[in-house]
Amino acid sequence: MPKPASDAQGAYRLLPSIDETLRDPRALALEGRAPRELLRRFAAETLEAWRAEIAAGRLDQDRIVSLRASGEPFLELERRVAREALRGVVRCVNATGIVLNTGLGRAPVHPEVAAAMAEAARGYCVLEVDRETNERNQRDEHLGDLLARLTGAEAAIAVNNCAGAVLLLFNTFAGGREAVVSRGELVEIGGSFRVPDVMARANAVLVEVGTTNRTRLADYAQAIGERTGLLVKVHTSNFRVVGFTEEAAPAELAELGRRRGVTSAYDLGSGLLDPEGAPPLAQLLGGEPLVREAVASGFDVVLFSGDKLFGAPQAGLIVGKRAAIAALRKNPVYRALRLDKVALVGLETTARLLLAGRAHELPVRRMLAAAAPDLRPAAERIAARLAALPHLAVEVTPGESRPGSGSAPGVALPTFVVHVRHARLSDAELAAGLRSAAVPVFARVQDGRVLVDPRTLLPGDEDDLVRGFASAVGREPTSARRSRA
Ligand SMILES: *Cc1c(COP(=O)(O)O)cnc(C)c1O
Repeated sequence: MPKPASDAQGAYRLLPSIDETLRDPRALALEGRAPRELLRRFAAETLEAWRAEIAAGRLDQDRIVSLRASGEPFLELERRVAREALRGVVRCVNATGIVLNTGLGRAPVHPEVAAAMAEAARGYCVLEVDRETNERNQRDEHLGDLLARLTGAEAAIAVNNCAGAVLLLFNTFAGGREAVVSRGELVEIGGSFRVPDVMARANAVLVEVGTTNRTRLADYAQAIGERTGLLVKVHTSNFRVVGFTEEAAPAELAELGRRRGVTSAYDLGSGLLDPEGAPPLAQLLGGEPLVREAVASGFDVVLFSGDKLFGAPQAGLIVGKRAAIAALRKNPVYRALRLDKVALVGLETTARLLLAGRAHELPVRRMLAAAAPDLRPAAERIAARLAALPHLAVEVTPGESRPGSGSAPGVALPTFVVHVRHARLSDAELAAGLRSAAVPVFARVQDGRVLVDPRTLLPGDEDDLVRGFASAVGREPTSARRSRA
């Protein structure tokens, strides 16, 4: 029952003002942790929230008096400052065993790549000018050459991410026209990226063919008409249809396009390359399609992400026939999706490492290729260090890591994991403590334990991991803490 208005009026009058809240000596001490303007905003938001509670009849005069007596206005301010400190992009330790974790920034890059990126960010660089002639050129021209050499394509172009590449593709070849896609490949990639939605925004008319589990070449052939601009194959990155299934072979689809004069494209997403001399990953990843093979099947364009299995900074890489790439480059949408110098130099450096026979050095490839026995010593070492911390019980068992980011769904990589249990904290509380450490640690939570998988640890991460646990075990269980206002 809402309180009578007169009660509410009295309640409003009992609230402190913003200035009063900020004059609390403890609030003044917060000024070292947050700028004054932000503290003022937090105080205003707190009081605003309380006014809403009063209006809803959930906060009466007695409760306000007791909240003020217990210093709640300051405590709420402090909680908001603490929460603010946990925001933003900072380095973290990925102990999840998910190699390509979109939430944690996908592919960590090679140290030489990281150095090149830092250098480009710090100063000027030769980005869009020819050093011989001093004339303007295309910023991704050289990267295009490197990618062509790596994949066997004639040419290449690079944009901000693969979603952008898909948008550019549909807009260029099917804008105001039709694009033919199999019903079984109209996928949602995650983060609200749905192929049909992107097509609509690219002004392409979707022509669905086949059924969820079976699409034959004849289905595509029948759908081709005067207005068809594009035949598209999409790699169903994050799921598998098993059982009674059929899809058109890539080479047949590309050949159909060539015969009927329609551009053909293959969106691979994950973009695996197994360069010459590199320990191959294709088999390990359950037959994940290779970029080079997709190109060799004859598609006009093949699309993939820079920061998935390619192991580079975020980008959408498009390789293919010279004429098709030129058409993409002419579209003004390309200008809106172009790469910045930092990502570009990271991609060039990664491509050069691959061409130099150094693919095995890339962190993503190293992590994916690690066999369980290689990971056991790290698991044992971490377990021993964590067992030395108070209240922790640890155990090492065989487990499974995942490639992640929709690469090779259903593929589990055998590993060894450290199971960690705290005597009083729940699994979720321990994990939350890890996330709020100075260097945040992300781990898997499962059956009352926190699981640490050494597969995704980078050099130097182990110390930060142990520090993260040390800071998390110092916390009190939530149930013992003061309940919120
Ligand atoms: C991941 C993926 C995308 C989107 O790539 P981003 O680089 O994340 O934009 C597009 N298509 C497929 C098939 C994918 O797997």
